[in-house]
Amino acid sequence: MSVAAFGPDGVPNEALRGMLCCPGCGGERLAWESGQGARCPECGGWFPWRGGSWFAVVPDASWRAVVQDTVALFMDFTENRDAVARLAGGDMQREVENFREEHESDRDAVFREAWEHLNVPREARILEIAAGDLRTAARLWHDGYRPVCLEPIPEILGRGEFDRETSIPRVCGSATRLPFRAGSFDVVFCQAALHHLDAIEPVVREAARVLRRGGMFLAAAEPYSACGSSIERIRGHLRDLSFDMGLNERIPRFGDYVAALRGAGLEEVRSFTRAGDVRVPRRLGWASGLLARAGVARGMRMRVRHALTHGQSSLVARRGGASIAAPVPVRPAEYCFDPADYIERRARAGLVGIWKALMDATEVPTAIEVGRNDLFELRRGFEPLQRDASEIAFRWLIARGAFFLRVEAGARELVADVCLPPGGPAGCDIEAWAEGDSLGVRQLAAGNDWTELRWQLRPGGEMRIVEFRLVCEALRPLGGGRFGSVKVRRVGAY
Ligand SMILES: [Zn+2]
Repeated sequence: MSVAAFGPDGVPNEALRGMLCCPGCGGERLAWESGQGARCPECGGWFPWRGGSWFAVVPDASWRAVVQDTVALFMDFTENRDAVARLAGGDMQREVENFREEHESDRDAVFREAWEHLNVPREARILEIAAGDLRTAARLWHDGYRPVCLEPIPEILGRGEFDRETSIPRVCGSATRLPFRAGSFDVVFCQAALHHLDAIEPVVREAARVLRRGGMFLAAAEPYSACGSSIERIRGHLRDLSFDMGLNERIPRFGDYVAALRGAGLEEVRSFTRAGDVRVPRRLGWASGLLARAGVARGMRMRVRHALTHGQSSLVARRGGASIAAPVPVRPAEYCFDPADYIERRARAGLVGIWKALMDATEVPTAIEVGRNDLFELRRGFEPLQRDASEIAFRWLIARGAFFLRVEAGARELVADVCLPPGGPAGCDIEAWAEGDSLGVRQLAAGNDWTELRWQLRPGGEMRIVEFRLVCEALRPLGGGRFGSVKVRRVGAY
């Protein structure tokens, strides 16, 4: 059996061509143009080949979560990395890198454990969804496996240090609309991916559709919130860079994962943790979802705690015999945005523009109270915390904070309640920005007192979503490799 691959001109070889289909309508007669991409004669969709990846982007509603992640990544990681390098030299940068390394290697260990358990033969047809920077795919490739990789964010897909294996077939697309024919793979897996999506089930259903009957699905390194742990404890476990960056992090309940897998025709669901393998009994899986929702049966939850309370566990299931429907076709006239805007990245403003277009403006608050209604918390599915918001430090690990507010037509000021705790710098300047324009600099003295800082807004004729940014130029890493931080408890446009 020949290995599925794209040629250097972006045209798939016979083995891969037999697996691909139009992500928009499922049509199997894609017309390939050397060096350009593929057109679907059935729906008219155009899927270009760019920089060694095939872009199978069909902008349906599922792209909202993807764009949220992409915007967060762009705004808070890439930009902050530059700001950090400028402000703090190598120290803080190293801290950020160390943190990421620690985070990633833990995830790798969780993945390896589950993968070894699967005993995947080298010749298996493998798909990784949300393959990220290809770190896992590159390692599997090195070990003799030949995975096909799908990832929705072009900046991540094969642009990092793991891109040495340029032969890995790379597809940019959404996991909710896979450009693969039914039954094309023996194994489909993902890592720490499902909880980034607004809903798990559409992704798992797609994974099941492209699996052959008897094929295996692996969701590695997923966080659960069903059992044992309090919300605070989970927050503590998972408070990491991605949270401060505003990625679309959610913590689904364990029962939600199990229900999604079973709903997609996957059977023999098992849960792996670092401690071992626990098969989820049919009844318990069903019941734990309900009970977790109801917030009862603590004793029952405790019994399965070791399987469920880890921040990073894995689920494995086998594709059963049920037939799985393909996603509802979406034709180019129905796209939520122009895929070229996303693919070509014509301007960063264009990406933020896509995000704004996908958001319902009324979902964006006019004032954020940290820990109560901030967008990040809400999107992650946390319950409101039952304690005073002023206790919660919104730590600016990386010296800037970016956020969106709904600005009503009559709003005149941006107001921020901030404080610079003792132990850091004696004071700092905070500059507010709106849509890339400075609103001015305000001074903040050290101490534990909350200070209300105000900036005048330019008058606007109508309600709009505005990207704001608070920048603390004076922050430096504290002793012992720790970061300085400014606390924010409220920002609003009034
Ligand atoms: Zn089509």
